[in-house]
Amino acid sequence: MTTDQFSTAVLDWFDQHGRHDLPWQANKTAYFTWLSEIMLQQTQVSTVIPYFERFREQFPTVEDLAAAEQDEVLHLWTGLGYYARARNLHKTAKIVSHDFGGQFPDSVDALEQLPGIGRSTAGAILSISTGKRAAILDGNVKRVLARYYAIEGWPGTTENMKQLWQFAEQNTPHQRVADYTQAMMDMGATLCTRSKPACLLCPLTSGCQARQQGSENELPASKPKKAIPVKQTLMLLIENDTGQILLRQRPPTGIWGGLWSLPETSDLRDAEHETGLPVDADSATALTPIRHTFSHFHLDITPVHIELRDNDLTNSVMEQPATLWYNLRQPQKIGLAAPVKKLLGKLKTS
Ligand code: SF4
Repeated sequence: MTTDQFSTAVLDWFDQHGRHDLPWQANKTAYFTWLSEIMLQQTQVSTVIPYFERFREQFPTVEDLAAAEQDEVLHLWTGLGYYARARNLHKTAKIVSHDFGGQFPDSVDALEQLPGIGRSTAGAILSISTGKRAAILDGNVKRVLARYYAIEGWPGTTENMKQLWQFAEQNTPHQRVADYTQAMMDMGATLCTRSKPACLLCPLTSGCQARQQGSENELPASKPKKAIPVKQTLMLLIENDTGQILLRQRPPTGIWGGLWSLPETSDLRDAEHETGLPVDADSATALTPIRHTFSHFHLDITPVHIELRDNDLTNSVMEQPATLWYNLRQPQKIGLAAPVKKLLGKLKTS
């Protein structure tokens, strides 16, 4: 297949089978395209849709998003994971609003300078919102191209990435670039899926080298695995006499940066010292442990429900910065770390 035949086959397939009614396709502004692209990084379309709709309603313009409190943004993001994306989203909204008069820059190079926007996301924003010719190479497209060209080894190596970008650039057509970008993402998500690619329905079958070699199920090779360590922590669900739970805000950077979490300790005997509260260690009840996996370690969390010994001192803790009593029945609008949200939910229903 020539590059023209490649893009024509992809576009013809898109016209008949592509996704044309995703909420961010209704109004393909740079703002909505950027918002959806950031949410879609490492996250499936079906998960993203309700989040996108909530953000669109709450922040109809980039200026609205820029003017929001970080807590409000993190609160709306809770559950989507990879919170650095939300913090970068907020930073970029501020830059676009203050430095660019509310208009996203219109080149890949300039877009790539903004927090959280890599080369592929920049290409997607530009091609979808302006129709300018720009290539993308997100996870889905990487898989399609790695199979089509039967690239050996993990696609993420420097050498393979260089080659994949070359293929992505050369196959991007000069016409209908926005549709082509969407088509390639759709093909990766619906046809050339990680397991069981639907080659019989694929418009690229006749040129696909993996298909010809019968290696479509083996390619692309997975990232070489490193064993990741397991860490342990006790998370304290400290409850006052009105049924509220003590939360603390995490430092702005690092794990769960800026989100609200539970006080932690490695030893229950230190709980009083760590929280500065008269907690009654004898009343502590260990709940079912949960595991939360980060990219570089597993965190085994043992939640411990614990009551205050002296509720008169409840207010003293409020003098500490970044501390609040969380009301399970009327939850405050704050960004919660994912496992904390889960634990609070369980406590509410128990
Ligand atoms: S023929 Fe199969 S392996 Fe090749 S691009 Fe299409 S779906 Fe993927």
